Amino acid sequence: MMQVYPKIGAEDPSLLELGPDRYERTNIPAGAPPEQPAPARLGNFDMVFTGYGDEQAVVEAMRCIHCPSPEPCILGCPVHNDIPSALLAIEEKDFDKAANIFRATHTLPEVCGRLCPQEILCEGSCTVAGFDRAVNIGKLENFCTNWQRTNKGHPMPALAPSSGRRVAVVGSGPAGLAAAEELARDGHQVVVYEEWPQPGGLLVYGIPGFKLSKEIASSKCAHLERLGVKFVCNTKVGRDIELDALRKEFDAVFLGIGAPIGHSIGLPGQDLKGVYQATEFLVRGNLPSDELPQAFKGLPEIGSHVVVIGGGDTSADCVRTARRLQIQHGFPEGQVTDYYRGAEQEMSVREEEYVHAQEEGVKYEFHASPVRFIGDDQGHVRFVEMQKMRSKPADKRQRVPIKIRIPIPGSNFTVPADIVVLAIGYGGDPLIPSRTPELKTVKPGIFQVDSQVDGATTLAGVYAGGDDVRGADLIVTAVAAGRHAAWGVESYLKTLAAPAA
Ligand code: SF4
Repeated sequence: MMQVYPKIGAEDPSLLELGPDRYERTNIPAGAPPEQPAPARLGNFDMVFTGYGDEQAVVEAMRCIHCPSPEPCILGCPVHNDIPSALLAIEEKDFDKAANIFRATHTLPEVCGRLCPQEILCEGSCTVAGFDRAVNIGKLENFCTNWQRTNKGHPMPALAPSSGRRVAVVGSGPAGLAAAEELARDGHQVVVYEEWPQPGGLLVYGIPGFKLSKEIASSKCAHLERLGVKFVCNTKVGRDIELDALRKEFDAVFLGIGAPIGHSIGLPGQDLKGVYQATEFLVRGNLPSDELPQAFKGLPEIGSHVVVIGGGDTSADCVRTARRLQIQHGFPEGQVTDYYRGAEQEMSVREEEYVHAQEEGVKYEFHASPVRFIGDDQGHVRFVEMQKMRSKPADKRQRVPIKIRIPIPGSNFTVPADIVVLAIGYGGDPLIPSRTPELKTVKPGIFQVDSQVDGATTLAGVYAGGDDVRGADLIVTAVAAGRHAAWGVESYLKTLAAPAA
């Protein structure tokens, strides 16, 4: 018997008569998102994804079949964006309304539209993937919020009357910006402390411009300033000002300092010149010197043989930055090779990043791990001794076994390296807890919080959220944590005696 497909919006009579029915929608072909071609993009640090045009966005939005509730994509999104309603607004060419729908649940939709691993979140839950490629939700989120930002500016939210309360936010990355926006809307005076010269934290200093334009973060920070938020940059809490001083000056403090410390690889030769931690390499490779603190001024070294160690998004950022530096600084025939200790399918890198890196000429070698870095008589790295590895399930009884990697005896080999970049993961920053011992941690720089109260640490009036609680994780989960912790701060402020008039 022929399947009868309801019109889109059949669950909501006000949406009847909109567009083709579900079945017809599955026949709309997926359009490739417009990108700079690889040879051209290696000559610049501009964003690879150049953005949908209006008509392309409308057609892509029409691919959404508006599943009967509960829509799986909403559940797949950590901040539960109302994706079907936003896509319907794009289909109706009301891009402003679509952007506002995303902004209702998300502080940084133009960022996450580009950087979320959509394939395991919203798009990973998209029903259309059973027919064709999933609806390109992230890039549509990015499209409409960018459209709004460039055509109308960030919308001004309704602000609560001044509460007379002051809140310090430490860190201006995703969690800090999310908390700052929520608290400013609630009528509190918010001051954000940032150790780097510009506000934006990870969004400016950790993400290369070919993935996220610096302008997106700076326009968000400018918007927060219009809401009354103040940014104090070049100020690291625990070094330039103590947490205790903030506790005295403010009614509450939110810690959103992320997990910024690169893991040490602990191998002989790790301190040779030319061996970089990922953060230093990315910061110096992607930002102009005059925007960096003294310790990071100047381009990183580059050469014909670049070795990157790691298998995540940060290693992809490093290899792609290295390729651009090679092309733009005299090593067009140079080689960038990423060595990963596990199998190809065990890498955590997003598929999009992996494909882009390969298009840009990066080579990947699997089941290979460094043993030592070998220098010349000037103390500069020249070679890396590697060994072959094999993956083995840690416990075969697990449904998805965690893999451990075992060195293969006698398999060592040596590769040339003009520079080495280590992208093997990040941990918390232990500085603040070392200066404030009453602030308990579960691991170095990872704060203990009360699971019953949003983000409450072991110090009264001090809240935390994002990577400094969960460990290194996604931007969207940091945004969600920043918002939740702000609600925790709000509840705490209500318990305090009324401020003096
Ligand atoms: Fe998808 Fe991330 Fe946007 Fe949520 S925030 S809709 S998961 S891209």
